[in-house]
Amino acid sequence: MTSCINTVLVDLPETIKGYTRPHGEGYTIIINAKLCDEAQRKAYEHELQHILSGHYNRTDTVAIELEMAREET
Ligand SMILES: [Zn+2]
Repeated sequence: MTSCINTVLVDLPETIKGYTRPHGEGYTIIINAKLCDEAQRKAYEHELQHILSGHYNRTDTVAIELEMAREET
């Protein structure tokens, strides 16, 4: 399945790096504009990994974040 992925930079509270919202057939990745380039890239890859792994078909979002945190360290 290929889906359309849009990316936008938005000023968010500093505790939020980014998030993804499904829309129609695709997704919008929202990245915090306040992050430095490196952190933005990491946040983008993190969100992309959610999409590629099909996480948005799951409802156990807390478990998903814990799994990903383990893989990223
Ligand atoms: Zn995440």
